[in-house]
Amino acid sequence: MAIQRTFSIIKPDATKRNLTGAIIAKFEAAGLRVVAQKRIQLTLAQAQTFYGVHSERPFFGELCDFMISEPIVVQVLEGEDAIAKNREVMGATNPAEAAEGTIRKEFALSIGENSVHGSDAPETAAEEIAFFFSGLELVG
Ligand code: GDP
Repeated sequence: MAIQRTFSIIKPDATKRNLTGAIIAKFEAAGLRVVAQKRIQLTLAQAQTFYGVHSERPFFGELCDFMISEPIVVQVLEGEDAIAKNREVMGATNPAEAAEGTIRKEFALSIGENSVHGSDAPETAAEEIAFFFSGLELVG
């Protein structure tokens, strides 16, 4: 597997509890490198667009309200097989089902407030990186 880039968010529940560094340490220990990063606060319209794929789900409103409740840290992570590696380090969506040692097992509060987002495929990674970062912010 070649070197890939993936998109990551450190979510409001984690930034609020000052866990940004602890989560980055997990990525770095897994061989992922932070190659772009910024701390921002989403507008409701941005959250609704980003999570548009979930717009028909019953938790959509709750999810968008949560994502705008505090600042988030958006990142581009790079490494060997980065998309799958990041999903592995994140753990299952529901922290009650997440494997030992994963970010969600150690830090997530609930299935909604689950500390991190990570792209699920190369196409979504490219779209999500472009949604948040300009070419100038991405070192080649
Ligand atoms: P992910 O790829 O593991 O983040 O999971 P999904 O793409 O299925 O869901 C996107 C995000 O929606 C999750 O990370 C959660 O923050 C949120 N979410 C998913 N399922 C639920 C749910 O049942 N309730 C609530 N409140 N949020 C949910």
